Amino acid sequence: MRYTSTRGTAPALTFEEAMLTGLARDGGLYVPEEIPTLTHPEIAAMAGKPYEDVAFNVMRPFIGDTFTDAEFRSLIADTYASFGHTARAPMVQLAPNHFLLELFHGPTLAFKDFAMQLIGQMFKKALGRAGERVTIVGATSGDTGSAAIEAFKGLDNVDVFILYPHGRVSEVQRRQMTTPTESNVHALAVDGDFDDCQARLKDMFNDFEFRDAVKLAGVNSINWGRVLAQVVYYFSSAVSLGAPDRRVSFTVPTGNFGDIFAGYIAKRMGLPIDKLVVATNQNDILDRCLKGQGYHKGPTHPSISPSMDIQVSSNFERALFDAYGRDGNAVAQLMQELGEGGFDVSQGAMQALQDVYISGRASEEETSATITNRLATTGELLCPHSAVGVKVADEKRDPATPMITLATAHPAKFPDAVEAATGIRPPLPARMADLFERDERVTRIANDLDALKSHIKGHLAS
Ligand SMILES: *Cc1c(COP(=O)(O)O)cnc(C)c1O
Repeated sequence: MRYTSTRGTAPALTFEEAMLTGLARDGGLYVPEEIPTLTHPEIAAMAGKPYEDVAFNVMRPFIGDTFTDAEFRSLIADTYASFGHTARAPMVQLAPNHFLLELFHGPTLAFKDFAMQLIGQMFKKALGRAGERVTIVGATSGDTGSAAIEAFKGLDNVDVFILYPHGRVSEVQRRQMTTPTESNVHALAVDGDFDDCQARLKDMFNDFEFRDAVKLAGVNSINWGRVLAQVVYYFSSAVSLGAPDRRVSFTVPTGNFGDIFAGYIAKRMGLPIDKLVVATNQNDILDRCLKGQGYHKGPTHPSISPSMDIQVSSNFERALFDAYGRDGNAVAQLMQELGEGGFDVSQGAMQALQDVYISGRASEEETSATITNRLATTGELLCPHSAVGVKVADEKRDPATPMITLATAHPAKFPDAVEAATGIRPPLPARMADLFERDERVTRIANDLDALKSHIKGHLAS
């Protein structure tokens, strides 16, 4: 199994190389040369199996000979042992045929732990046996950074630097990044918004001298390993509702398009997914694009679902690559236009996108009202991101097909929005109840490439 770049000119890599490098040298994202499929009986056999077994069977065809079967099984076992629920990704019911997939039982209470914890284990194994060190730099709107720090803290072969937009993450998110005491983790509060953080990260990757000098590795949602780990819970949840003998639909609160793209991969692998619904907040550039209005950047409006406050949705490039018939030149052209403000999608590619994805959006008021009314009708407390999903799912679902909405974070991660909507301040799970008493360690830094580069170089362990 080899991986090629969405911009067509970087060399093809193995799974291990694609995972360790993150962004391709031509600025593109790595995608598998072909998508392996699972047969009907193979999918049916997942019913009733532990999450770890489903994970092994779904991901195994993608990793080539990077890990032996025994190694991979043990990495998966170590990855999910730290989760606070034995089902790992349990479901609760919201309404007849509408289910909520709880992806927030990992160590930082958001779905990002599913992939990041696995990436941490895979990096540790691959770097350890090669005797190599890397510098991980990530940009975050909040949840990726805390998940990355949690996954990589204390690992011997890794220094990790996380850029987050100063003042634009929730207090729980910030504290999850600034309170770990391990000396290989560094939280950087950037004077800018999330798109600025993401742009500086891309600048660092495109600065080959710096990239090679510090052995830069990326674990943002552009990393193929992240997408892959997220494919698993589409299978585990669908199978528990009767797939592959029954079709199911999914609604996914979306920002960088990584989670929903994993759903598309599941569908391509043979999981009978009916609708794949992209749910956005008021920053609805993806909803507008999928409705045929082109992809044109505007200002980002801070919302109560900050992990989806985005204009440049990185993984959408992977969707465009397939929609344009895997034409790397066409994608490179679109991404250049994006740098200048935006692009229009060709008619053929638009049709291809609409064959796979539908979309909707939730305003701030609608998100809040959804949190309020779900508490009243089901007793469930939703985080604002999950509420965006539930609101859009209600509009898009048809009663005969089970709808699974992804609950991407625990309500306690966004207590202000939840309290404003319900009067209830959701408590942190007992295993992290002392978060607010721990000391914080963070560096405030300008939105400036040189400042970031010299800070990173000056703080490497070796
Ligand atoms: C990251 C995140 C999202 C958006 O996921 P993408 O894969 O970037 O589309 C939604 N909700 C929460 C809570 C997140 O942390």
